[in-house]
Amino acid sequence: MDLDQAKIPQATAKRLPLYYRFLEGLQASGKHRVSSSELSEAVKVDSATIRRDFSYFGALGKKGYGYNVNYLLSFFRKTLDQDELTKVTLVGVGNLGTAFLNYNFSKSNNTKIDMAFDVAADKVGKEIGGVPVYHLDEFKERVAESSVEVVILTVPSQAAQPIADDLVKAGIKGILNFTPARLSVPSDVRVHHIDLSVELQSLIYFLKHYPL
Ligand code: ATP
Repeated sequence: MDLDQAKIPQATAKRLPLYYRFLEGLQASGKHRVSSSELSEAVKVDSATIRRDFSYFGALGKKGYGYNVNYLLSFFRKTLDQDELTKVTLVGVGNLGTAFLNYNFSKSNNTKIDMAFDVAADKVGKEIGGVPVYHLDEFKERVAESSVEVVILTVPSQAAQPIADDLVKAGIKGILNFTPARLSVPSDVRVHHIDLSVELQSLIYFLKHYPL
């Protein structure tokens, strides 16, 4: 299973967590194999795409047998670093930020929000969902100590860009941006943008104009 992960296309890599979660459920229920059509039904990805995705990491399903669940899971664990705990941090402990701190990816065992930052006097110094909230002024120093590279950004949109600039200066390499602001960052920093209201509007639009 010594594969060159750089060769996995990005679109395939994005689907891996989806496959992983479903396969984990299968393993927990004692199933040892799964067909691409069963997977397809469960994760809502067509089976041709699944077969192509799996071929990138050498998992060739056998006709009438399907895929070996344990093999796939051990591959995914390696690829997704499921065996390593990745600590992330959160900036902006408002309503959304607080919800994330309380949730704290409790279903996943490999990602955990370790600390949070805000500027509001009524938030700094508190602990929410077991996560300490520090003043943003302490960001650089604390991040350097803990070698965190990823930030979940849940501040008001007008504050997002200046904060992102500071995060980058502090060495952050990945930002999960929940604000509507489009962030400009250097090319070695990755931003994934999740605008919940846009996603919701788009779902409503598709339901209306492209009924299934
Ligand atoms: P709340 O009602 O708790 O303020 P909200 O989600 O409606 O929640 P927002 O105005 O979106 O509030 O702000 C989100 C959080 O970002 C708040 O906790 C706020 O204190 C914090 N915040 C605002 N400006 C900054 C900043 N420059 N740096 C860090 N955090 C900030």
